[in-house]
Amino acid sequence: MNPQDITSKNLCLGCGLCVAQGHAEKLEWNSDGFLIPTGSHPHNASIATEQICPGVLVDLPATPGSDPLWGYTEEIVVAHSTHKGVRQNGSSGGIVTELARQFLLHGLVDGVIHVVSDSSDPFLNRAVISTTLEQIESGASSRYAPASSLQVLTPELLQTSAKYLLVGKPCDISGLRNLQATDPRWKSKIPFTIAIFCAGMPSREGTIALVKKLGLSGDTSKVKYRGDGWPGKFIAWNELGESVSTSYSDSWGSTLNRFLHPRCKICPDGIGLQADFSVGDAWETQDGYPDFHDREGESLVLVRTKECHSLFHSWITEGAIELVGQRNREYLETIQKFQAQRRIFARYRWIGWTLGGGFKPRFRGVFGAGSYRFTEFSSGLRQLMGTLKRSKKLHS
Ligand SMILES: Cc1cc2nc3c(=O)[nH]c(=O)nc-3n(C[C@H](O)[C@H](O)[C@H](O)COP(=O)(O)OP(=O)(O)OC[C@H]3O[C@@H](n4cnc5c(N)ncnc54)[C@H](O)[C@@H]3O)c2cc1C
Ligand code: SF4
Ligand code: SF4
Repeated sequence: MNPQDITSKNLCLGCGLCVAQGHAEKLEWNSDGFLIPTGSHPHNASIATEQICPGVLVDLPATPGSDPLWGYTEEIVVAHSTHKGVRQNGSSGGIVTELARQFLLHGLVDGVIHVVSDSSDPFLNRAVISTTLEQIESGASSRYAPASSLQVLTPELLQTSAKYLLVGKPCDISGLRNLQATDPRWKSKIPFTIAIFCAGMPSREGTIALVKKLGLSGDTSKVKYRGDGWPGKFIAWNELGESVSTSYSDSWGSTLNRFLHPRCKICPDGIGLQADFSVGDAWETQDGYPDFHDREGESLVLVRTKECHSLFHSWITEGAIELVGQRNREYLETIQKFQAQRRIFARYRWIGWTLGGGFKPRFRGVFGAGSYRFTEFSSGLRQLMGTLKRSKKLHS
């Protein structure tokens, strides 16, 4: 299987790992506004693409004590950065940026691999290796658009002694885990990972449609999806410095989520089951639903390893992070309903996708016992039928 086969089966997430590893030449936009690998192998790749590609392989080893929906956690907390700017610019409580800063400040890594907006193209996000606090901070905030987080994981990176932290979506972390399983040198190269919660990656066309709907004239020079408050606004600027904006619930709820990648619709893990830290929004709730009124940001943090648990608490003691409080799985099901449902129905959707003619991705260890809940069976069947229909349409 080569990257183009994966693309043609609608399973390529544009992470860039196959390009970095020499299975394809470059990433390009397709007509739907997603990044896809193109070009033939510039040099011989020793590993098969399907062994590393997160679009077709998610492989979670069993960990005793794992929750069927939320995976293994040492602790579930709500917290925020105590740095005013980091908290304000972050998507939620600036925890991802603060953790990255602390990993660097304590010499645990030499750099942070994460994505930033490309200054030459407002609709493009690219992976960088940040080695200063300023560079790390420049990557703050969520970008609801394609981002090739793994394009910097080239074999050349293994030639140095530097160690890195990887920040990415759950599928980005899966790609790294796949790579680490094929070549253990990547385990010591990237010893720490942070996943952001992810409900799906909208295409570049999603952002373009939103800017158009908001009526920005001329060429777009910059877009910002969130930050500057919580959840913060979507803002787009043109070259004259004029701007248009809308709320997070409008940008995501009325436009961006209509442009999601087909692979995201069958994603079994939007909560970073394979990461050391998983970070999302610690939404307040109103009548059982997330309340998107603007306030000071707070992040939901799932700490998944013993080592990171002790690091996290040492950074609380040092005053870099403020702990708002501990939480339990019932709280998660209330504030992250979408993610809970996705975990419960992942297997049904996967079956629907394959029955509809889609290529069968290997999702191992990610269908928790939650997906067998008897009470969810009839809703599960509805999910299966819906996915089957969509899959048939895509693959006929
Ligand atoms: C596509 C998408 C879907 C999301 N879905 C959910 C959801 O379902 N539930 C939820 O609670 N939160 C969701 N979020 C928000 C995300 O989980 C928050 O960014 C998280 O709360 C971290 O906030 P923070 O303030 O701690 O991070 P910040 O300090 O703002 O740092 C954010 C980090 O994420 C990285 N990043 C931003 N965009 C991307 C991207 N597209 N790909 C890879 N890395 C990126 C940045 O490089 C930065 O390092 C989503 C974000 C994105 C981009
Ligand atoms: S490795 Fe990444 S870019 Fe390559 S085919 Fe898979 S998802 Fe697409
Ligand atoms: S929904 Fe899943 S597959 Fe899609 S971008 Fe998010 S983590 Fe990746």
